[in-house]
Amino acid sequence: MAFQADFSRDGSGPRFGTQKLLLVEDSRMFSAVLCHRFQAELGLNVKPCSSLKALQEALAQDRQGFTMAVVDLNLPDSPYGEALDCTIEHNVPTIVFTATFDTATRNRILERNVIDYVLKDNEFALDNLVATVRRAMLNRKTRVLVVDDVPSARQVLVDLLKAQQYMVVEATSGLEALAALEAYSDIELVVTDHHMPDMTGYQLTRRIRHRFGSDRMRVIGISSSNDRMLSASFLKAGASDFVYRPFVAEELQCRIANNVETLTQMKQLRSAAACDYLTGLYNRRYFYDYGPKVVNECLRQKSPSSVAILDIDHFKRLNDTYGHEIGDEVLKAVASRLAAIFEGSDNLLSRLGGEEFAILFPMVDSAAATKLCDEIRSDISRLKVAADDEELSVTISIGVAEISGYETFENYLNAADQFLYMAKHKGRNQVYSDARMTEEAAQ
Ligand code: GH3
Ligand code: MG
Ligand code: MG
Repeated sequence: MAFQADFSRDGSGPRFGTQKLLLVEDSRMFSAVLCHRFQAELGLNVKPCSSLKALQEALAQDRQGFTMAVVDLNLPDSPYGEALDCTIEHNVPTIVFTATFDTATRNRILERNVIDYVLKDNEFALDNLVATVRRAMLNRKTRVLVVDDVPSARQVLVDLLKAQQYMVVEATSGLEALAALEAYSDIELVVTDHHMPDMTGYQLTRRIRHRFGSDRMRVIGISSSNDRMLSASFLKAGASDFVYRPFVAEELQCRIANNVETLTQMKQLRSAAACDYLTGLYNRRYFYDYGPKVVNECLRQKSPSSVAILDIDHFKRLNDTYGHEIGDEVLKAVASRLAAIFEGSDNLLSRLGGEEFAILFPMVDSAAATKLCDEIRSDISRLKVAADDEELSVTISIGVAEISGYETFENYLNAADQFLYMAKHKGRNQVYSDARMTEEAAQ
């Protein structure tokens, strides 16, 4: 475990690198700005088309390749939304971007099961459109559970959610819903009916809240009941939102989107709180939060684990000689090499601060951890960091301590720190540990 990979560090959210977006828009100005923004802000590969003819050609050339389309309803060669019919016929999920809007247009758009529509009627139209595309792309990775015992009512919800690109799981009762939550650990939102044979939506909400906080799972209640108290009961039971039937599609869509966005923001906050800004590694806070849980689990299983502290040798000298910026580059290079070494492993790597890193090795005793750390030490000593016209290299010293009994987490780290001190004292660029001390005593 090395990196928080969910979000980019500037907080701009994930990017959708390999996906292709069709942009059907005749205004050169809109098209140029949108192409740039979709590419720069979302990392999308954009295919612009300024007419129905160009759209047909693009689809003929690449029938399967488009994840999504943004379509203007009025084009010179197709003034009545023919471009929308064309993307829908080709099963390309579509967002409509339109200046003309009235009830008839709305009905025509909604009939075609579009992802959403964005109106070109204000100065924020472009921002809204970019946000809508980003949201739809994220929805493709978001799993929603729909719970309703009436097939036709359930289908309406499923269609609405699928149109917005969500991954949808269905349940016909409260018990089935609970089983689905066991089966799919990535469900983030539950939309539940109230009147069901085995348990009410209200009871289901309470059972869900017993297991999942609202920072991990959102619940939206939905019912055709006339009881005006029902929404209050749902919300008091921990539902995130409630909608009475019959609902306005756009309203439910927005409420769902708001809830999913709240979860995304929570994820970003958790990610930022756990991440070291300079290196992208887990930070000290995360190490001290999560480390004790890992240690306790190992101790419960009566298995030893080990903790190591790594410290770059003579780093102050390097800073003094080459400047702080080069020092930062070296820190980043060492961090990214360590991250590569631990990619996919259960070991927990973090930057404690300054030029110090910590690694927790679950289920690894001190002798094995010492050996691993020796390999890391030697690997880092071969690392070359380009600085101006020079290639710099650094060495690290490592202290390793075994964790075999219940103590405070701080104590385990203090022990590793004392071994680190001895490694420094013995001349640096080496690993020292309880295992090595025992080895030496036996000689
Ligand atoms: P030793 O071999 O004993 O570890 O010596 P050292 O010079 O590496 O250790 P010392 O603790 O004396 O100095 C650490 C230096 O790391 C001092 C501090 O200015 C620098 N430092 C701490 N954080 C950062 C950082 O984020 N970026 C840079 N460039 N330098 C940092
Ligand atoms: Mg140092
Ligand atoms: Mg230090």
